[in-house]
Amino acid sequence: MKITRKTKNTRKTACLYVVATPIGNLSDITQRALQTLKEVDLIAAEDTRHSKKLLGALGIHTPMTALHDHNERGKCLSLARRLAQGERIALICDAGTPLISDPGYHLVRAAQAAGVKVSPIPGPCAAVAALSAAGLPVERFYFYGFLPPRRAGRQTALRGLRGVAATLVFYEAGRRLGAALQDMHDILGGERQAALCRELTKLHESIVRAPLASLLAAARADNIDRRGEFVLLVAAERQARADMNEVAVGRLIDALMAELPAAKVAAVAAKTFGAPRQRVYEMVLARKKGNPA
Ligand code: SAM
Repeated sequence: MKITRKTKNTRKTACLYVVATPIGNLSDITQRALQTLKEVDLIAAEDTRHSKKLLGALGIHTPMTALHDHNERGKCLSLARRLAQGERIALICDAGTPLISDPGYHLVRAAQAAGVKVSPIPGPCAAVAALSAAGLPVERFYFYGFLPPRRAGRQTALRGLRGVAATLVFYEAGRRLGAALQDMHDILGGERQAALCRELTKLHESIVRAPLASLLAAARADNIDRRGEFVLLVAAERQARADMNEVAVGRLIDALMAELPAAKVAAVAAKTFGAPRQRVYEMVLARKKGNPA
């Protein structure tokens, strides 16, 4: 088949850019995101009124069209056609990275099916921001997103996650926080380490790391501000056990310290719990200084 010049150019330039935008702090936009949003022919936005404010503040006046959960399947066909004709389209959501608990999956598939390149312009994502600063293990994590809003569905989902050997990542609305913490406590176990990450990158940003039982107690006592947006992280069971052991190791150290020298205390406690001797020795020294760590 003879490829015309027009077709060649079309193949070269057509692209669906999946562009991350800020999750709160407007300065969290990359140079590539700015450039791409200025240069594309069209921006497909989850909520055009919401995105108009962001784009206006950034001095971007590219035409927009709405692509949300309710029209995505139908709309992506017409957008894929425009891509196939050589247009460049940027996909954005209300905040953060499109497709991550946000629309865009069907458009990405439609663009690929039309033979059009799909290119990510990475940037903010609430889940990754939370993981990066919460202080829970991140070697492996399991992104769940939003739990089912009804109790029965939420509990079934949590039962399915009990054995996952990774830090669990949930998005949760403030009004459901108490109920979600209660079910996590009952099903995953109150001793599991967790982190409540609120309003990340915004004025009232806070990250509280504590066992699920403590977070639940705080929620019950109304000591958690439920306004704003939350990411809830829950460590794997193995991590909880390690933390529990540290408490038990500490108790044994306290009991032995009056009777034995530090090195001997460390040796006995490490052997009893199969714990790393160096870490146990550090715990003994910290206690000797009156600073249990
Ligand atoms: N696509 C987005 C991303 O990349 O993170 C997530 C969109 S999802 C519809 C919105 C949820 O993400 C919120 O309900 C909240 O759980 C979480 N979230 C978004 N921004 C946040 C922030 N600044 N701080 C904490 N959680 C946030």
